[in-house]
Amino acid sequence: MTNKKQIFIIISIVVFILDLIFVAINYYSSLHALNITLLDSLQEKQTHFNHTLSMVYRNMLQISEHYSQLNEYNQLFLKGKKAIKTEGGGKGGIEAQQARQMLLNKVKPGWDNMTSHFKVRQLHYHIGPGSLSFLRVHEPDKYGDRLDNVRNIIVDTNKEKVSRVGFETGRIFSGLRGVSPIWTIDPETHQEVYVGALEVGTSFEQILPIISNNYKTNLAVLLTKQHVEKNIWPELIQEAAQSYVQSKSNIDYYIESSSSKNLKVILSQINVPYDFISERVGLIKMNGQYISTFFFPFRDYSSTKNNQLPAIGFVLLWEDVSELIIEFHTNIIINVLFALIALIIIEVTLYLLFKHEIKLTNSAMFDGLTEIPNRRYFDEYLMLELRRAKRNKQIMSLLLCDLDYFKQFNDTYGHLAGDDCLRKVATTLTSNMKRAGDCVARFGGEEFTILLPDTSLNTAVQIAERLRNKINNLKIPHADSKINQFVTISIGVASTETIQKADELLAQADINLYAAKNKGRNRVEYEILN
Ligand code: GH3
Ligand code: MG
Ligand code: MG
Repeated sequence: MTNKKQIFIIISIVVFILDLIFVAINYYSSLHALNITLLDSLQEKQTHFNHTLSMVYRNMLQISEHYSQLNEYNQLFLKGKKAIKTEGGGKGGIEAQQARQMLLNKVKPGWDNMTSHFKVRQLHYHIGPGSLSFLRVHEPDKYGDRLDNVRNIIVDTNKEKVSRVGFETGRIFSGLRGVSPIWTIDPETHQEVYVGALEVGTSFEQILPIISNNYKTNLAVLLTKQHVEKNIWPELIQEAAQSYVQSKSNIDYYIESSSSKNLKVILSQINVPYDFISERVGLIKMNGQYISTFFFPFRDYSSTKNNQLPAIGFVLLWEDVSELIIEFHTNIIINVLFALIALIIIEVTLYLLFKHEIKLTNSAMFDGLTEIPNRRYFDEYLMLELRRAKRNKQIMSLLLCDLDYFKQFNDTYGHLAGDDCLRKVATTLTSNMKRAGDCVARFGGEEFTILLPDTSLNTAVQIAERLRNKINNLKIPHADSKINQFVTISIGVASTETIQKADELLAQADINLYAAKNKGRNRVEYEILN
């Protein structure tokens, strides 16, 4: 392999590697951009979610504050509270029940309005301190239970006597709640007294469809099994069984609410997170659609207040991003095609340049007419072989061939026929060489040299005789030859076996060729010296 070919291959490999790097950089930067787009879109939805939640809390608080100002209601609440005290606490007795029923009758018409217009799902009077359930307007038969360990938002409101908002899981359901303190004038003492807290709540079931519709996204809220089962009444856990999700991690969940029926299918495709510290983005392929998913931790009233407590679950957002992904794949394919086309163009250009270059190099060393090595090549080759023969103490021989009466051949048949004849002779000489080291060259005009490394004079003469016969047997007509009807050659043979100075090999062959010409042509001449 020549140097030029090696350089061509090295440059090609470098170009190929650069091309690969280009494709890789392109791929990873597109992937990075895609990830950012997906994350941006989901984070925007997260912001909408949080924003909607703040609005819901504000609404709940407005309603609870409104009702907490209604004095007639508050009087009944105080009456009930007092009755419970005298009737032994807990559920209280007949008097407490009367007050409860009257309060319920008052609230009821407004309650129906609240549920239909403001999506309210819960309205609950709690007696302070701590929390003793006095009246659940949404569940009027359930009262008298203490919620001191469950409902921190109520306990805090009753303790500090200021309004609060937050998410909390109660005995019956988890809700987004607004809680207001209730004060009223005690008719007996004419003093303002603190009675308890009024809580107004709604559920994610009411809120998620609104977020989903407004912001074109799917979302679900999942709460940990531990959190739900700690708070909710055990008999209600049975009812919640269908929303139970067993995850691959050691934490199971209840689906609090979902905007889509597909949630369970989505959940079966992803690893539900077992820590709620960080947000997490994912991409899944389902029924030929690409869906991006995003988790973020969800905290309730207590865990918002106290950062040391873990989040109680997480919110899952997901959306169909098939269009984006297909666009990404198309871009990658286009990039690869571009890279491939560029590679082909560069390679073809390089190849043509090198081919031209190689041709130029060849033309300096090869004869254009016969396409065999020229004199320059032969001279260099002879020099190298002489040195090598000397090093290895080997003999070598050289033949100098000359076409007989070739001037006449040209005169008779024309220059083109002469060229053709030279080509045939060159091919015949070359194809009759047996060893890889043998070298046939056009020495000039109608003369050819043949170098035979590691060849004795005797063998060289035999080869010369064979070649002379081969040429004659080509039977190229030569009417004006004075010695033969066909083209013939004369050969002078010289060998380092018989001469003292190796670099006179060529001169010696020339002398012998001259002798062959003198002795009548179409013959081989050599000299045995010493
Ligand atoms: P001799 O037998 O003594 O060698 O006679 P000759 O005519 O062969 O020798 P001479 O040196 O007088 O003539 C050589 C001729 O070879 C002259 C030239 O026209 C011809 N010749 C040299 N190179 C080319 C070539 O490339 N093409 C053709 N067609 N003829 C060439
Ligand atoms: Mg000649
Ligand atoms: Mg000649």
